[in-house]
Amino acid sequence: MSSTSTTTNTVSIPTTSTVTTSSGYSPSGTPTQYGFFFDQSRCTDCFACAIACKNYLRIGPGPQKPLRMLQWETGTFPSVRLNFLFLTCFHCANPACLSAAVSSGNPGIYKEPKYGAVLIDPAYASKLRDAAAACPYGAIAYASDDPSAPAAKCDMCIARLEQGRKPICVMACNTRALDFDTMANLKSKYGSVAASNLTGLPDPSATTPSLIVKQADPKKLLVPYDPAKVLQLMAKRDPLPAVYTDSSQVTTIQNGVIGRAAPVIKPINVEEVVTSSRCDDG
Ligand code: SF4
Repeated sequence: MSSTSTTTNTVSIPTTSTVTTSSGYSPSGTPTQYGFFFDQSRCTDCFACAIACKNYLRIGPGPQKPLRMLQWETGTFPSVRLNFLFLTCFHCANPACLSAAVSSGNPGIYKEPKYGAVLIDPAYASKLRDAAAACPYGAIAYASDDPSAPAAKCDMCIARLEQGRKPICVMACNTRALDFDTMANLKSKYGSVAASNLTGLPDPSATTPSLIVKQADPKKLLVPYDPAKVLQLMAKRDPLPAVYTDSSQVTTIQNGVIGRAAPVIKPINVEEVVTSSRCDDG
């Protein structure tokens, strides 16, 4: 990326409009779209990626999370599952945030063409509520609900890319559940196992996120489960009463027992950001 001056430049974006930034950045050339790969079956929700992101961007503890790790529960005993989701800006090919900003006359978001990163112009960071509302992934993060609070989002670690290094979240992942490359390379590397979307995420046709994913395989019961035998075992607690008297007590989840049945993709305020994602203090 080149930054030749501190004066205001006009930047052509690959949509129908033109924006003016104050960054001094003069992009040119044909966009090459880079993006993320997420392997849900490898992720253990250790949230090292989210902590590394905040640390790298020097964002303090609290709700401003350019990268959120979401966790939710599905299934009933014995086939239960904790699902994990890596959620950040996916630097969409058709970014709804950018369209919303352009529609409201705000030039604070632009798509740079070297990596296809969707970036915030810091001079407009406190005027991006319309853009944040338009993003289907809730990827534009705030430290408070104050309407003039400055926005932050994933910038693809573009400074690291310029040094030939991958984004910090990818390098922080202990289980190699994340990867980053051109979308063409990711599709060629993972295309046979990956899809363009994950259960729980919005329909990708809306914005064409730069993401390919490998969904965790359906859970297999290695040892067949016999509810009648379980009840027998649980009944042998003499002189204590049986723990369960009916198999539905262990195969049906009552209201209030489950923690979260679906991921919160778009939190309505910063409190919900904190309660619905990991790394609350990082
Ligand atoms: Fe914009 Fe959201 Fe897409 Fe990122 S994920 S480019 S913030 S619409």
